Amino acid sequence: MQLIDIGVNLTHPSFNDRHTDVLDRARAAGVCQMILTGTSVSESQQALELCQQLDSTGERLFSTAGIHPHDASNWTSDTHNHLKALLKEPSVRAVGECGLDFNRDFSPRPQQEKALELQLALAVELQLPVFLHERDAGERLLSILREFRDHLPAAVVHCFTGEKDTLYRYLDMDLHIGITGWICDERRGSHLHTLVREIPRGRLMLESDAPYLLPRTLRPKPKNNRNEPAFLTEVLREVSLHRGESEAILAAHTTACARDFFRLPNVSEANFCEQ
Ligand SMILES: [Zn+2]
Repeated sequence: MQLIDIGVNLTHPSFNDRHTDVLDRARAAGVCQMILTGTSVSESQQALELCQQLDSTGERLFSTAGIHPHDASNWTSDTHNHLKALLKEPSVRAVGECGLDFNRDFSPRPQQEKALELQLALAVELQLPVFLHERDAGERLLSILREFRDHLPAAVVHCFTGEKDTLYRYLDMDLHIGITGWICDERRGSHLHTLVREIPRGRLMLESDAPYLLPRTLRPKPKNNRNEPAFLTEVLREVSLHRGESEAILAAHTTACARDFFRLPNVSEANFCEQ
């Protein structure tokens, strides 16, 4: 079984100096490829460097480059050119993480919207897929995306936590959906149990969002409470349960979907087990 984790914040300080162990455990759990999330110019640069340092094969680690809505107010005149240069690197496979967060509002909404529009324009120009973040801003995200959608190759709403009507409207716009361990959270994620059944094969991908969102159903719990890509198997287990699909089938179609979305190479089983 091969899994692809489409959202790992490996640049997070909690992973410092432990990257190799984290990657070894991921591989042992069947996570054969990962997309490292970039959330600012410097984090996107660091994510790219981690891909280059930690993956000599060039087949396993890839990254995104973008400005998270929390960082939208830090957009400067240089940001566009820095992002564009990063997005031309072969390991960088998507524009993002970009989007709207009207839940925490760490950047003013007009700046979030402007940063999103500029990044969608870059994705159109470079014909790259988009890794989107949305919290409590589905309506606004849809109206901005509508302007760009016909010209974008693909876009995924990562860590989907919304309600049924928003999900349907995303699917109607031919967007992909990323599901995290949020679905394992009995306090705020149980509405996703019925919703994951509604996502067609070829539109659904799995992600850890590590070190955040440790699946609450995971046993035993790690002492440090930190999530990591190896625990993607717990998201797989929970989603498979609620979709009424075997883990093997769910792994196969979500992996094929992620490979297609991010244009990833196949990883041969021999190569995968070797290290
Ligand atoms: Zn996010």
